[in-house]
Amino acid sequence: MTSSRSTPTTYDGEATQLTGHESALGTLWLVSTPIGNLGDLTPRAIEVLSKVDLICCEDTRRTGKLLHHAGLANRRMAVSNDHTEMHRVDQVLATLGDGHDVAVVTDAGTPGISDPGERLVRAAVEAGYRVSAVPGPSADVVALVLSGLSTARYVFEGFLPRRGRERAERLAEIAAERRTIVLYEAPHRVAGTIADLSAACGPDRLTAVARELTKVFEEVIRGPLGEIDVGEPRGEYVVVVEGRPTPDSRPSDDDVRSALADEFASGASTRDGVAAVTRQLGVAKRTVYALALALQHEADRKETT
Ligand code: SAM
Repeated sequence: MTSSRSTPTTYDGEATQLTGHESALGTLWLVSTPIGNLGDLTPRAIEVLSKVDLICCEDTRRTGKLLHHAGLANRRMAVSNDHTEMHRVDQVLATLGDGHDVAVVTDAGTPGISDPGERLVRAAVEAGYRVSAVPGPSADVVALVLSGLSTARYVFEGFLPRRGRERAERLAEIAAERRTIVLYEAPHRVAGTIADLSAACGPDRLTAVARELTKVFEEVIRGPLGEIDVGEPRGEYVVVVEGRPTPDSRPSDDDVRSALADEFASGASTRDGVAAVTRQLGVAKRTVYALALALQHEADRKETT
């Protein structure tokens, strides 16, 4: 496969090939596709999809729509989903061996991320073929960077086991995890998963629930696990959970008391003071409220003695 367009460069001005690689052997391309907004399909993705000899996809109708949107007609597709990926290996290796390129796409996002792709990559690597990627959207990274939680160290947990001991064990691991945790969840399970996470990690653990990313109704709900209300489930969801706080990484009760005292000293009502401190310090509202009541009770007691 060779590119018909002018050769692009890297940021440093070094020449690089848009898609192709001169070799007698084919390349396996992992091509990321939009997670909702077709505008996120990159020019390079279109270029690769226009040139490969075979496109492995989960659903030919869905990928057909994407190809149609990109102005690509009559591309050769083969179904490679969770059930069929292993049966595709021989065909893909034979195509690569003939010197033809193959692309892997999924219904949305980056292949191999809670989606098929991993097996084909492993088989191609083991057989000595070149594997390359056309990067693009992945819901996990989009949700992470929008979460407002630490992005310095994070773990991707994919979908939690649905029930039983496996789920309980995974929840316990998440509760102990220091790094930010990113989870995928189906819409009808998201409220139950938030409740289970709250029981495992405690209601104060900060969380962001991102839904319909890159789409019209994109929304990120942020707050402590115990206060997250996802309402009527609509669309696709990613849940991002703060890692287990270290003793000094969270505001102490004294920090909360002192922030509340500042609010009350400047004339804030209980409600406004609690809201402001909850916002400022990212501590659960119920904790701030309880400390505010204790502070006021103490002040009333001093006044009457
Ligand atoms: N490979 C995909 C990726 O790179 O993001 C993930 C595929 S996985 C089968 C589908 C899950 O990804 C959904 O259940 C949801 O948790 C998440 N997801 C995909 N698109 C999303 C979007 N636009 N907004 C929120 N979550 C999304």
